[in-house]
Amino acid sequence: MAETKRKPAVGLQPEGDVDWSAYRGVMVVLEQRRGKVAKVSWQLLGESRRLADKLDAPLMALVIGHDVEDIARQAIGYGAERVYLCDAPELADYRTRPYSRVCLHVIRTVKPEIVLFGATYTGRDLAGAIATHLPTGLTADCTQLDVDDNRLLLASRPAFSEKMVATILCKQFKPQMATVRPGVFQALPFDERRMGEIIRVTPPLDPGSIRTEVLGFVEAVNRVNLEDADVIVAGGRGVGGKAGFELLAQLAAALGGQVGASRAAVDLGWISHDHQVGQTGTTVRPKVYIAAGISGAVQHVVGMQNAELIVSVNKDPDAPIHQIAHYAIVGDLFEVIPALTEAVRAARTKEHVPVV
Ligand SMILES: Cc1cc2nc3c(=O)[nH]c(=O)nc-3n(C[C@H](O)[C@H](O)[C@H](O)COP(=O)(O)OP(=O)(O)OC[C@H]3O[C@@H](n4cnc5c(N)ncnc54)[C@H](O)[C@@H]3O)c2cc1C
Repeated sequence: MAETKRKPAVGLQPEGDVDWSAYRGVMVVLEQRRGKVAKVSWQLLGESRRLADKLDAPLMALVIGHDVEDIARQAIGYGAERVYLCDAPELADYRTRPYSRVCLHVIRTVKPEIVLFGATYTGRDLAGAIATHLPTGLTADCTQLDVDDNRLLLASRPAFSEKMVATILCKQFKPQMATVRPGVFQALPFDERRMGEIIRVTPPLDPGSIRTEVLGFVEAVNRVNLEDADVIVAGGRGVGGKAGFELLAQLAAALGGQVGASRAAVDLGWISHDHQVGQTGTTVRPKVYIAAGISGAVQHVVGMQNAELIVSVNKDPDAPIHQIAHYAIVGDLFEVIPALTEAVRAARTKEHVPVV
């Protein structure tokens, strides 16, 4: 990709000669809501550990919230060696302004050379808000990360309607910032013996100056959450219509999982886009992925190939999906899926087999 010679917006010009070499280390801004950490945060720490080791630099995490000290300790177990913890009642719920003020304060003080966020709704909002206050860029929705010999972050993401992958560099300013798609990287195994340091940060804001208030949360009913699902039963064109997806939903319910779909099924209007897995859908990393009536096109496979166990159900023995499956069932899904559902229900009733 061509070199970016972008100048920071007027008003964001760094004053005088900035010593960019003072910026060192990789920082992951962790995402939590009410004490539950988004999986992408641990995945980012896993990949960032590799980047930090390559740079011979520290791996840092930033935890913001209230009563979140335990998360700071967990971050060490997942690979961080230094955790900045900003814990205050006014930070209990995510709000753009207070959270971005904390991030800016920590970034300006600590000077990490790379800062990473999950490409979730919250991560995108926060990263975007921070980028407007710093004389640097932000590469959104990355699917690959690396660093080169000049300590430059190689942030790669699909471009031009996902037809190619562009690698974007921020050569002139620091920190180099990116949001990263959930599900593409793997978290390190949690190791409670890992040693690290927790540094407390005083919130750099007066609670009275925060102009927004969270009155409450309304959990979305039947929200599709493929990113965090341990089991996904996905269907494609072979499912034949909405009724076919009902069969998949029954198996997903028996397994305590969610229903996924190929783009073909979504484009045909059989199921909504939030169920789509793949390059232009969600990237998933479940424990079990059952692909029924899906051929295994590369754009689908990139979104699910990191599942721990893949079961394919396709009547075509030459379907590419069978090549990446751990268990390939050559057969008609209208026979196989109901039989699997019955078997799972029977096993769970008789033997109290827990959901995965
Ligand atoms: C830029 C771009 C981005 C894309 N992004 C995505 C993406 O994010 N996700 C995605 O999925 N695709 C994506 N695609 C589309 C992708 O290329 C494929 O067209 C799509 O994945 C095919 O979906 P499918 O496997 O359901 O359908 P098909 O390829 O038509 O396969 C249907 C399969 O069902 C089997 N089958 C039929 N009847 C039965 C039965 N009764 N029992 C068992 N098996 C049966 C057939 O043997 C066949 O293998 C993208 C394409 C482009 C160009």
